[in-house]
Amino acid sequence: MRYGSSTLDAELFLAAETIAAAPRDGTVLLACHVNPDGDALGSMLGFGLGLRRFGFTSVYASFPEPFEVAEPFRFLPGLDLLVDPGKAPARPDLAVSFDAASPGRLGELIGALESAPTWIMLDHHGSNTGFGSIRLVDPDAAATAVVAADLLARLGVVVDREIATCFYVAIATDTGSFKFDATTSEVLALAARLVEAGAEPGDVARRVFDTRPFAAIQLLAEVLNRAELDPSAADGRGLVSAYATMADLERYGQPIHVLESFMDVVRTAAEADVACLVKPVAPGQWAVSLRSKGGTDVAAVAVALGGGGHRLAAGFTGYGEAAEVLGTVRDKLDRSEKIRVD
Ligand code: 5GP
Ligand code: MN
Repeated sequence: MRYGSSTLDAELFLAAETIAAAPRDGTVLLACHVNPDGDALGSMLGFGLGLRRFGFTSVYASFPEPFEVAEPFRFLPGLDLLVDPGKAPARPDLAVSFDAASPGRLGELIGALESAPTWIMLDHHGSNTGFGSIRLVDPDAAATAVVAADLLARLGVVVDREIATCFYVAIATDTGSFKFDATTSEVLALAARLVEAGAEPGDVARRVFDTRPFAAIQLLAEVLNRAELDPSAADGRGLVSAYATMADLERYGQPIHVLESFMDVVRTAAEADVACLVKPVAPGQWAVSLRSKGGTDVAAVAVALGGGGHRLAAGFTGYGEAAEVLGTVRDKLDRSEKIRVD
């Protein structure tokens, strides 16, 4: 946490007061971003279990269509909190959103969130556009789960094995298994407390990071084989890019989420500061992932293209052919500012 931020501290205090004052039999709606990753699901479900422990009896959690939890996260505790967005309470008494940097990422749940008397927004993206009535945004937090764990602690909720597992998955996912720069001593200390409470690092790693269908490995080989390196892109800092199409997924019988981990291989290319992976969403629509090793503010590039994220990990939705989307990225990278090294 950024302990120096008095605004965040005041908002956390206000959020805890509001939750503590809410009737325990009121309806609570939790929502996280579309195509939820480990942090979106883990922070939301862990917090939802915490609210139950606090005494709330009607807690519902949801995310926009496609309403499907990716296979690696189907072991998460608290999945019974999930409801289809079409069945989510339309007028909840309290709403809380997780890991969404802009309202658009909450899709069709926006109406219900806005109709709640209080909407507490938890996030950690520097590109957060500011929404909800109580805004808990900590751009220095490694994961939204760090903010969620802080809020639960202020409510005096004891973290049990189930909550700990949710938050641990969230933090392990968003720190790239404790490898990214956001892995501070505070994050490691929180992870240690979660392990003490019952989270199992080995089991989580096997399930979330180290298990995939054989066909997904073959698809990875094909995608890597067509990856391209452009050392002159991004003003000479270099770009490595790859893409997969809907037809590729169909050929290997794989769901879209298997592509998420491909970036972890693509971005290791030593000759490129920036990595770009273009993933299919629908015909003519792509989810584009951007990463930098440290020399480029890819969040600025993503924001310029209608998306958001963090300085070194960001994304946006692209339209047209995969090659066109890559062309747009290359173009924006050439105009992007190099990160100033202080
Ligand atoms: P990923 O590439 O792993 O999907 O996302 C990297 C980061 O960028 C995450 O923090 C994610 O929330 C953010 N991000 C990815 N796609 C989008 C998008 O379309 N819009 C916004 N606002 N953020 C995105
Ligand atoms: Mn996150």
